[in-house]
Amino acid sequence: MVGASLAGLSAARSLRKQGYDGRLVVIGDELHRPYDRPPLSKEFLAGTLGEAELALETDDEDLAAEWLLGVRATGLDHAARALWLADGREVRADGVVIATGAAARTLPGSEGLVGVHTLRTLDDARALRDELARGGRLVVIGGGFIGAEVASTAYALGHDVTVVEAAPTPLAGPLGETMGAIVSALHADHGVRLVCGVGVKGLSGETRVDAVLLEDGRSIPADIVVVGVGARPNVEWLEGAGIALDNGVKCGADGRTSLAGVVAVGDCANWYDPRAGFHRRVEHWTGARERPDAAIATLLAGGAVEPGVPRPPYFWSDQYGVKIQFAGHAAGADTVTIEAGAADDRDVLAVYRRAGDPVAVLGMNQPRLFMRWRKQLAATAS
Ligand SMILES: Cc1cc2nc3c(=O)[nH]c(=O)nc-3n(C[C@H](O)[C@H](O)[C@H](O)COP(=O)(O)OP(=O)(O)OC[C@H]3O[C@@H](n4cnc5c(N)ncnc54)[C@H](O)[C@@H]3O)c2cc1C
Repeated sequence: MVGASLAGLSAARSLRKQGYDGRLVVIGDELHRPYDRPPLSKEFLAGTLGEAELALETDDEDLAAEWLLGVRATGLDHAARALWLADGREVRADGVVIATGAAARTLPGSEGLVGVHTLRTLDDARALRDELARGGRLVVIGGGFIGAEVASTAYALGHDVTVVEAAPTPLAGPLGETMGAIVSALHADHGVRLVCGVGVKGLSGETRVDAVLLEDGRSIPADIVVVGVGARPNVEWLEGAGIALDNGVKCGADGRTSLAGVVAVGDCANWYDPRAGFHRRVEHWTGARERPDAAIATLLAGGAVEPGVPRPPYFWSDQYGVKIQFAGHAAGADTVTIEAGAADDRDVLAVYRRAGDPVAVLGMNQPRLFMRWRKQLAATAS
């Protein structure tokens, strides 16, 4: 198992659940045991949830695994059935699960400037939380979900917050323009400035950041900057291993890769979507948790499993006290209708349809109705 986070842990659990009782080695480059990332931009950053509560393993859980933590896998030699580690060790394996997730994208030229943060790991979250505790003006670059959650948490902590987004509407990619605009209106509702449709040229400051420079010549004063411009799959270590890579590890609908005995799961895996007829890499908690079951069945059966149709992807986000939930794919929908609630109240259930069939559903503070629609989507999909 390479990657000791949600997808790696879920795959380890699946192995044991599906009857594998052999040697199991989990390799992770972070020093921490598996922990949950969603709270890092929410309750943990707000200081209402402690580190112990992030643990993904239960107290009495024993997967009888060997944990090699704080060490990076640097290569895979398929012919030799070996994994190479950064400390020179070699691990022999009959089967390999790639679960190396994704890393936050950075802003070129911002490295080393004090006050500039990305948010992907517990260590990132600790550093940002400490910085926020000292106060100051926060500029968030990127109005996607993580950027929006950081803005919302920092607002609740009493910060002066500006969000800069290069696209005309934040969240237009995952939610479509209409609903993206409704969700991102939450910023303005709370007095958080949203600057859209303009790119970031760079950051200014000698040793510490003091402003974000925009491409239109404006400069936004900043004491703290969070760069929330997406993530890239952690697959560099697989270059030259002979495995098909394309926006992550290219996988079939059951997690199999181009190499026998090797499957990939979670944020690093670009799974084939049989409904859409193309590959999609999904960076959501639920996919990283659920899909390992199918990948492990494939691994244990030597690839002889008929892949099922996966449930439509699902994610949630918490911003300014509003629970946002989304399932399915907005791209390709030809209509979006509000089925319940009202956009102005930020209390909405919206259904996306293509040729009359529901393809996605969005809820804002509509958890019960959302779950009903999510079930219906899954039934239609299968
Ligand atoms: C701040 C934040 C908030 C989020 N909020 C939500 C949310 O509200 N809703 C939602 O659906 N999703 C959310 N997500 C996404 C969700 O957390 C991810 O989809 C999930 O963590 C993916 O799990 P993973 O195991 O595939 O990857 P990761 O969690 O990225 O874990 C991969 C692990 O592999 C390690 N690794 C990488 N390369 C190597 C190597 N070569 N050798 C050894 N180890 C390696 C990494 O260091 C990491 O520990 C959020 C993510 C973040 C960062």
